[in-house]
Amino acid sequence: MLESSIVGSLPKPSWLAAPNMLRAPWRLNGSELTDAQNDAVRLAILDQEQAGLAIVTDGEVRRRHYIWGFLDGLTGVDTENLARARSRGGRYSETTEVARIVGPVERRRPVLLEACQFARATTTRRLKVTMPGPMTIVDSVADEYYGTDRKTLAMKFAAILNAEARDLSAAGADVVQFDEPCFNIYLDEVESWGIEALEACMDGVSATRAVHICYGYGTPTVLAWKTKNTDWGHYGVTFPLLARSTVNQVSIECAASGVDLAVLRELEDKDVMFGAIDVGTEEVESADVVAGRLRRALQHVPPERLFPCTDCGLVPRSREASRGKMRALADGAAIVRAELTSTTQRELAVP
Ligand code: ZN
Repeated sequence: MLESSIVGSLPKPSWLAAPNMLRAPWRLNGSELTDAQNDAVRLAILDQEQAGLAIVTDGEVRRRHYIWGFLDGLTGVDTENLARARSRGGRYSETTEVARIVGPVERRRPVLLEACQFARATTTRRLKVTMPGPMTIVDSVADEYYGTDRKTLAMKFAAILNAEARDLSAAGADVVQFDEPCFNIYLDEVESWGIEALEACMDGVSATRAVHICYGYGTPTVLAWKTKNTDWGHYGVTFPLLARSTVNQVSIECAASGVDLAVLRELEDKDVMFGAIDVGTEEVESADVVAGRLRRALQHVPPERLFPCTDCGLVPRSREASRGKMRALADGAAIVRAELTSTTQRELAVP
């Protein structure tokens, strides 16, 4: 009950890449880089275990960026010579740097499998592996090769992601999560093909099938948008669609958004990875603050379906703040778990 996890990413150690920076270049290369990434994964897992999280990730410390980390393993995608394009509907900035599709996109070999096997061998806790979702990939590339529509391109990526997800699941990943922040932006596309593409990614995957839908990283441009945003109704459109889908778990941002928690009821019998940690601040929440957030969620979600989580990735934060926030998350969950257990025991004691 109330098993905690992070969305996926953690800050990288400063000996691996420049800190407090998205898409930071590596400080090493070749076998030294591989060794350093392995060590960073061990530390990322240790930090999560020591914080008391039940489900862990490799902190995504092998990826320069959560989308490029997957695209780099495919043919036909250039993540070095970038283009500029309008993405995320222009919500956070007019244009942004994106990878380019320059040839046939193929997955000649598994992309994240070895990383998954390494993490699996490093921890006995349940393991989550994350991948960018097809709508978010399509929104983050400049297609200079296919010249097709977004749905067709997304379904192409979905087939590739599905092959990867099946391999990760077979290699011992307990949760396979697709990151789809674009589900909070392109609501019409979510209905017309986004759910279909997401389900195609998950087809035949025996691991828990999860989707993460947030309002973006805790970076200055995103935070500036959040401060002036007044419409938090996106989940109200997508949750009824997700409730009818083959998705098992939905990860959502609640700590730093203005979302009305009553919308959680729209997810019906799905698991809720409830964002109870604000990833946009260095200030560490107290366990009591987290517990209060979880109690409010429990007004709409039964405890067996509530999974305390962060709002989004912790990669823009300091390692110290990340560790503090993970501890607060696990400790806050423990407070509420103890309350629920004592309530149940009292109820059982009634003749
Ligand atoms: Zn996110």
